[in-house]
Amino acid sequence: MSLLDDVLSHNERFVSERQGRIKRAPQKKVAVFTCMDTRLVDFLEPAMGIQRGDAMVIKNAGSAVLDPNGGVIRSLTVAIHALGCDELFVIGHLDCGMVDLDVEQVEADMLKRGVPAEAIGALKPDLAEWFGGFRDVYANVRRVTQLLRDNPLITKDVPVHGMMFDPATGGLEMLEAGYP
Ligand code: ZN
Repeated sequence: MSLLDDVLSHNERFVSERQGRIKRAPQKKVAVFTCMDTRLVDFLEPAMGIQRGDAMVIKNAGSAVLDPNGGVIRSLTVAIHALGCDELFVIGHLDCGMVDLDVEQVEADMLKRGVPAEAIGALKPDLAEWFGGFRDVYANVRRVTQLLRDNPLITKDVPVHGMMFDPATGGLEMLEAGYP
């Protein structure tokens, strides 16, 4: 049985057991920007007391913001100005894969699997910067928190908090509280 079959047959059972609908707008009026790490799935939200329907959760590799008008900012702008979020959390985590991303190894894998060298060469300004890896996960959270606070699309009435999450214990460490 393939993973796809597995997902589809699980879904059939899942749908038959569901009941009730919940609202689209985030009930806690909060948006969380964090990493796509597997250990955060179904773990960070319960660790924050956030349930389905409460929050908008935006994820990418390393909870990094590389483009001031890119996808993360676009999603947060929608969360605030279309869906009523009035508080943001930037949450990095310990043991993040973007800290020790081996760009040479990734590039070798891409080439081996047929990604054209020109496509890699076209990434700006280069592959390493395009991936946006970092050495210090704490510094990344502080940097992203400040970037969001300084972004003109994110209005000053929206507090932006920076936190560190431990995917082993579920503990949150406060780094930058967004309240005045
Ligand atoms: Zn991560």
